[in-house]
Amino acid sequence: MPASKKPKATKLPIRIGYGWDSHEFKRGTPLKIGGLTLPHERGLGGHSDGDVLLHAITDALLGAIAGPDIGTIFPPSDPQWKGADSTVFLEEALRRVKQEGYAVANVDSTLILAAPKVGPHASALRERVAELLSIPQNCVGLKAKTPEGMGTDNAAIAHTVVLLQKAARRR
Ligand SMILES: [Zn+2]
Repeated sequence: MPASKKPKATKLPIRIGYGWDSHEFKRGTPLKIGGLTLPHERGLGGHSDGDVLLHAITDALLGAIAGPDIGTIFPPSDPQWKGADSTVFLEEALRRVKQEGYAVANVDSTLILAAPKVGPHASALRERVAELLSIPQNCVGLKAKTPEGMGTDNAAIAHTVVLLQKAARRR
């Protein structure tokens, strides 16, 4: 396409973003999900704290502004992110969202894992994610599924969609 025919960059009033992530269960590490430590005999491996839900939310936020993905901003090969608290990744994504002039409207996630049961922690998780995103709890959706027939019992998977809206202008 010739440069003159290229559609111009727009400032849409709303934008949608999607992210997903997976991590393998590993013994000897705490289970971090949604910024909380859940009681379980195994945690999630990976270069950071393995917080599969925060990684999916981070990628959804970055996707909504057509930004680089989490692995590009925080390369797994970089030793400074080894064992890193994933809230750092989320905060950077939120900073970029704000910089683009947007605010988070709502977020919806699905967690897929064989164990532990998410139900008893669902409300604490929603509360924590709402707090991290600075949005009301009724703007945080969270469903949990078991991986029926998928053969992924040794992994935790998270899918997230996020809606951004233009931030109110500050005076
Ligand atoms: Zn991840």
